[in-house]
Amino acid sequence: MENLIQELRERRKTKRLPLKLDIFSRDTGKLVGRSLNISTDGMFIETDNILKPGTKVLLVFNLPGQIIPIKAYSDVRWIRKNVIPEEGWPSGIGIQFIGMYEAYKRKLEEYQEKSFFTEEINSDNYTLADFIEISDKDLFTKTKLFWEAIKDMTQKGFNTYRRLLLSACKNRVLVWDEKTGKPREMIMMDSNNYLGLTVDPKMIKATKETIEKYGVGAGSAPLLAGTYNLHTELEAKLAKLTSCDDAVVFPTGYMANIGCISALIKRKDIAIVDDAVHASIIDGCKLSEGSFRTFKHSDTQNLKQVLESSQDKYFGKLIIVEGIYGIDGDMAPLPVIAEVAEEYRAKVMVDDTHAIGVIGEDGRGTISHFKMEGKIDIVMGTLSHALGGMGGFIASSPEAVNYLRYYARSFFFASSLPPYLAASALAAIEVMENRPELNQNLWKNIKYMKENLEYLGFRIGNSQSAIISIIIGNELLLRRMNKRLHEEGIYLSALPYPAVPRGQERLRLKLMATHIQADLNRTLEALEKVGREFGVLGKSSGTYTKALVA
Ligand code: PMP
Repeated sequence: MENLIQELRERRKTKRLPLKLDIFSRDTGKLVGRSLNISTDGMFIETDNILKPGTKVLLVFNLPGQIIPIKAYSDVRWIRKNVIPEEGWPSGIGIQFIGMYEAYKRKLEEYQEKSFFTEEINSDNYTLADFIEISDKDLFTKTKLFWEAIKDMTQKGFNTYRRLLLSACKNRVLVWDEKTGKPREMIMMDSNNYLGLTVDPKMIKATKETIEKYGVGAGSAPLLAGTYNLHTELEAKLAKLTSCDDAVVFPTGYMANIGCISALIKRKDIAIVDDAVHASIIDGCKLSEGSFRTFKHSDTQNLKQVLESSQDKYFGKLIIVEGIYGIDGDMAPLPVIAEVAEEYRAKVMVDDTHAIGVIGEDGRGTISHFKMEGKIDIVMGTLSHALGGMGGFIASSPEAVNYLRYYARSFFFASSLPPYLAASALAAIEVMENRPELNQNLWKNIKYMKENLEYLGFRIGNSQSAIISIIIGNELLLRRMNKRLHEEGIYLSALPYPAVPRGQERLRLKLMATHIQADLNRTLEALEKVGREFGVLGKSSGTYTKALVA
């Protein structure tokens, strides 16, 4: 990306287009020479007919594809002659436009802009991160460059973002296929709907009934006129689920994280976060007035070092981790983290987004898994993953939760979660508790997939949950494999840099309780096929048909 930015800066500085045009004299109608480059201020004309500096000439030329010629009253500014051809610089005259109608000038400017932005960008050379830091006087420059890159990526079939879904989020989905212009069925391997609850009949019933009774919106912010009995009922249930004393519900998980962290971490405090945490945690830290530092992923020694070096500089300290990490599905070493936290008098916050419904007794998350009830200071969770709806929450002590209700800006400055979503979450918790077979089926699927992927010879991440990543380690290869897998009817996601470090690019599968054996086998078959096509699987690796059956 450096190249692109550099090029942009250069181009903007000189505003020169490498445009080769025939330039004529208006007085004689004769060819003066050929432009080498051109800007709104002037141009360099390659010619052997060197005019003296100071000579005034009226020049005429046509921009490519334009019928109306541009006329420019000009001054010869400098000359270059008798140059050695090997140097690659032809002789000619440097021209400055000294009189040009505004309309002509605008034409040139427009052409300059257009040609800059329609220059092809080879998306193979860039990642999404490259388009963040482009600074230019025109605020929209970054948008135009990114437009070109996405266009190129789409043309190459690498753009699997924002595919249109035409059916509910189940094990199989109908997806709009841009290539054929028709819907097609795909196996959904990219959904957070771990227990399949988005279409659970009990939840749909509860949601419908609540809409009938309460309508579709809360109508206000929670501190004003937007708190309903369903909210407080849900908060009590979520507190119980996570073994905390109280909870507060936010409209999304993202808002729960940013609101909680920015409310607690003030000027003299520090958040110390695992370097693999979700963007919402990082954004919460950035929004806060305090400091934040990262420690190496699940490296408690490094966490200790960061705490040690922060010890005398800050007052309050908050360690933030994910119970189950969204990238690889691995679990945080919570018992050690809690011990270290106690040693340094730090509080611990666990984002259990990918653990609730998946890990622990009755799907109560990592705190239950480690039997650490009451030992974690703050538990964050979403209603949008295994609970199948939408919303987020923070569970903690009654005092901390109360504080957040008044100081978490994404809570009280935003409208409340609509009551029907509170009802859907309440129903989801009930379904989760009463139908343990969903969680059991999910684990059966996880075991089957992990064993078979390993048997096939894929390098998989350290998954301890419904998220399994396959390490590919090269961005272009990742894009190609992802494209092929989508063509094979497997809807999964690719994680390029900066979602993961360079060289660690991954494909990611997310399993659901509602995947049937045929879905898993078809996915393995496609992965094997594509893995072999791209040489990711060697000759010695197993074949899925002979794979272990869980
Ligand atoms: N935390 C983590 C770890 C997440 O992965 C996500 C989103 N997937 C969120 C928070 C945000 O949750 P939500 O989608 O409910 O806003």
